[in-house]
Amino acid sequence: MVTALTGAHVVVGDGTDIDDATIVLDADRIVSVDSGRPVSGVDHVVDLEGRTVVPGLIDLHTHMVGGDNAVGHGDEATTFKMSDPLPKAVIDSVEAARVTLLAGVTTAREIGSRDYIDVYLRAAQASGQIEAPRILATGPGIAMTGGHGEFWQPEATADGVDAIIRRVRDLVHHKVDVIKVVSADGPETLAKWTTAQSTPEELAAAFGEARRLGRRTATHAMGNEAITNAVNGGVDTIEHGWYLTEESCTAMVEAGTYLVPTLGNVVDIIHKGPALEMPWASMMAEHEPAIFDRFSMALEAGVKMAMGSDCGGNEARQHGNNVDELIAYVRFGMSAMDAITSGTLSAAQAVWLDDDVGSLHAGKAADLVIVDGDPLSDIGLLVSGVAGVVQAGRVVRDDLGVLEGLRPRSVSPPSTTTAIRV
Ligand SMILES: [Zn+2]
Repeated sequence: MVTALTGAHVVVGDGTDIDDATIVLDADRIVSVDSGRPVSGVDHVVDLEGRTVVPGLIDLHTHMVGGDNAVGHGDEATTFKMSDPLPKAVIDSVEAARVTLLAGVTTAREIGSRDYIDVYLRAAQASGQIEAPRILATGPGIAMTGGHGEFWQPEATADGVDAIIRRVRDLVHHKVDVIKVVSADGPETLAKWTTAQSTPEELAAAFGEARRLGRRTATHAMGNEAITNAVNGGVDTIEHGWYLTEESCTAMVEAGTYLVPTLGNVVDIIHKGPALEMPWASMMAEHEPAIFDRFSMALEAGVKMAMGSDCGGNEARQHGNNVDELIAYVRFGMSAMDAITSGTLSAAQAVWLDDDVGSLHAGKAADLVIVDGDPLSDIGLLVSGVAGVVQAGRVVRDDLGVLEGLRPRSVSPPSTTTAIRV
């Protein structure tokens, strides 16, 4: 069935927009996006006057996979997350993925999980068993012994060039899309965060092997040394980068490396962390202005940005709040148009999916978010004004009841073919 969405303001995802546009969809694909209201050869017309259509959003830093529990920090022995029983972790993951999709995130990169649950989620989404974003799976990332991230799974640690190459191959064997290596410390080393962890040689070996085997790469990196080590090692995306310097910005710009800022996480930790007794909330509050100044500096320097929320990464960062990440970017200097691009085409480019998603262009997947109002004048509407979500041409959310006629939700109906016949 061919459907035309007419009368909408369309934000294409590539930095342009079209007023009073018509988007024609056929099954799971976009057929055309043009100004004006044709339309012939169409089975069904949906009037979206007064609404804005943006591409389905892409979150490059989610932790939908459950297992998060008490996170302890400080000098005493630490209780890390990923300790939930596996069945609970799986159920939580499915629910987190559903909530993420309903927020308008039609594609997500799961950036460090346990038991390869993300690999199974990816398959379940692709086959229509669950409602979830299209998923890029990372499995348990790689950390050095004693490093940030070793809580993922005991076997996730690797020390030395040979061991880390072996670990990359093991992840590839488990069919991950992305290799993540931790380059720097994390919240368990309160008030440091700028210590580099895996060595430049280890990073270069891991990212080189990943690239050779056709995998995308990412790194958790905070300070200058970790960022430049990872950039020199050929990484695709720097996660967080909260303590970057001019030197690291230059390195990222020269190499074309993307920054995934996860600023919504900073905001949530500061504002929600104290009530949750998060020990690093006060430290973040102290560091907050400088973190946002550094983001503005990176923006000014021309570092490429791609949206990443870190939802699920800690107890303050709840699933479904993914897109408030863009509000933070705008608050600290990005235009609303560029913020949307960071959550659409730029994010797609950072993970090599731009042939298929990330913008409203003919031939791409029909992934759309319908917003009541104009997010270019108020970016907050991408959170509070979401009225509909379409993924691969199927309606997964329709608050205004305007998308009737498009194909319904994606979850497969129960099969009746297995009934016993006598
Ligand atoms: Zn994270």
